[in-house]
Amino acid sequence: MSGSFYVTTPIYYVNDVPHIGHAYTTIAADVMARYKRMRGFEVMFATGTDEHGQKIQQAADARGVTAQELVDQVVVNFKKLWEKLDVTNTDFVRTTEPRHQQVVQYIFSRLMEKGDIYKGSYEGWYCVPCETYFPESQIGEGRSCPDCGRPLQNMTEESYFFRMSKYEKPLLDYYEKNPGAILPQSRFNEVLSFIRSGLKDQSISRTSVSWGVPLPGDERHVIYVWFDALINYLTVAGYPDNTDSMSKFWPSVNHIMAKDIIRFHCIIWPAMLLALGLTPPARVFSHGWWTVEGEKMSKSRGNVVDPFEMVELYGADAFRYFLLREIPFGSDGDFSERALVGRINSDLANDLGNLLNRTLQMINNFTGGMIPSPASNPSPLDLEIEGLARSTLKTYLEKMDVYAFDEALKEVWNLIRRGNKYIDETMPWKLGKDNDRERLDPVLFSLCEVIRFSAAMLAPFMPGTACRIFEQTGLGDDPSRLSLEGLKWGGIPEGCVVNKKGVLFPRIDLKEWEKEKTERDAKRSATPDPGDHEEEIAIEDFKKIELRIARVVKVEPVPKADKLYKMDLDLGYERRTIVSGIREFRSPEELEGRQIVVICNLKPASLRGVTSNGMLLAAETPDGKSLALLTVDQEIAPGSRIH
Ligand SMILES: [Zn+2]
Repeated sequence: MSGSFYVTTPIYYVNDVPHIGHAYTTIAADVMARYKRMRGFEVMFATGTDEHGQKIQQAADARGVTAQELVDQVVVNFKKLWEKLDVTNTDFVRTTEPRHQQVVQYIFSRLMEKGDIYKGSYEGWYCVPCETYFPESQIGEGRSCPDCGRPLQNMTEESYFFRMSKYEKPLLDYYEKNPGAILPQSRFNEVLSFIRSGLKDQSISRTSVSWGVPLPGDERHVIYVWFDALINYLTVAGYPDNTDSMSKFWPSVNHIMAKDIIRFHCIIWPAMLLALGLTPPARVFSHGWWTVEGEKMSKSRGNVVDPFEMVELYGADAFRYFLLREIPFGSDGDFSERALVGRINSDLANDLGNLLNRTLQMINNFTGGMIPSPASNPSPLDLEIEGLARSTLKTYLEKMDVYAFDEALKEVWNLIRRGNKYIDETMPWKLGKDNDRERLDPVLFSLCEVIRFSAAMLAPFMPGTACRIFEQTGLGDDPSRLSLEGLKWGGIPEGCVVNKKGVLFPRIDLKEWEKEKTERDAKRSATPDPGDHEEEIAIEDFKKIELRIARVVKVEPVPKADKLYKMDLDLGYERRTIVSGIREFRSPEELEGRQIVVICNLKPASLRGVTSNGMLLAAETPDGKSLALLTVDQEIAPGSRIH
């Protein structure tokens, strides 16, 4: 097989701190890029950063630097991470680069000439921090932002519109002819039903924002960040001037992303492409979200997984392996460091590491370090393992082609485990002692073939490990340069000398790990993440928060809610009820009679049918396992105000 393959990650919002979600998408794209190279494809692999918009401007203002200075500083975080994770992107595009801005302006002008962009006015409920208008149907009575909860403003502005309604029918036609264009299938159905519900023209410019690509011919406007950002894929492919590159790579473009942005990629983006007379993406694959230890990942919980730290602690390969092995690509999953350590010990140290170690050890002991020649009359067991290696490779290729990474890895592990069992069955140490070379040689040869096949199939996932396996087995060359199709049983060159060096994945001692992890968590909770700090407020803002001392009178569990208490409080001037999520941490007896700190003027909220009129204050450790309640250092009249 040969041809061209173009794979992309979304361009990431540059002011974010890179987290596990970014790492996941990019590693998956890298695995695909490496895999396609090993199948003979010429690969273009792009990632980059989205650097425009109001939020960047605001962040820059807050730090007293220009927007350009800010993005130049923070883009480094992403570039560094991709290096640490062994990501082989062929391009890194930034939306502030002139090459990109030119393409955006060119596309805008072309669609304007064609009548697919027109000037109108936009009215709606707008959230400034989120830079988004929300339709009436998405906002509640409070007119607050469904994403961040801040108040929305009713705004009208002159805006340019992309005539998306015109592409409703062509999009449906395209997807009906190309049902594999969106994976997994569930997302395909979701997108289609959304298109069928009717497409509206999209506002694609802003006058309220200044940090963006200036709109050609009307400089009061900048081009809306989404319109700008999506075009990056064409910038990298060389649109419009590099027609060679476009005709080679555009028809094979595969966009990989998290599921929250598929509407942009499966509706707006292909409509823009159709308007330009280009084919929509060959494939959009959207993957799921990660929770951390069963909880939603958030800065305020302090449970954001730092990929830099994971690489530092466990190495890029183990982290890469874990993310793609742990859950089906496309489903949601849970990240836990304990599970990662578990996989390192069982899959990597035990299964893979042992197979390599035992084999190399026996070759050193019995054949003077040389991989022996294949058998002229193999035993049924030899033939069986040979057959398994061939069928594993075949299934692996099928799974990889449809992004079923976890299943591809399961296949490889099935072969690795069979290899270990084959050692137990053939007992080469006994054959060695008896000097039965006629039987011993084919066994050792078969084991080396199992190792070679496994390392080649693992190379897209664990490039460093695959290299070390080849080095230690004396197979030479970087396995990433092999052709997966060209992998043939019996293909080990003659005269390979093994070179056993160190252990691939040392076992992690769980007791020591536990201790180290506890210390690490404690240290983290003591050092606040800079991202944890809220923006500065004035004393007037603080005065709006009515904090008072309350005495806990009675505490009862809320039925059917494991974490909630209903708490009756005495405020001196009144009694009131609050609902609090501290049931895991304190018994009713530990709470009743205590004086606590309560926010009294919080909007009432209904939790599991109980109305909560306020909130108590407490501090939680990052792992969520322990909590400290705010209280006072001497008794004071309930209802006393806190200043
Ligand atoms: Zn908002």
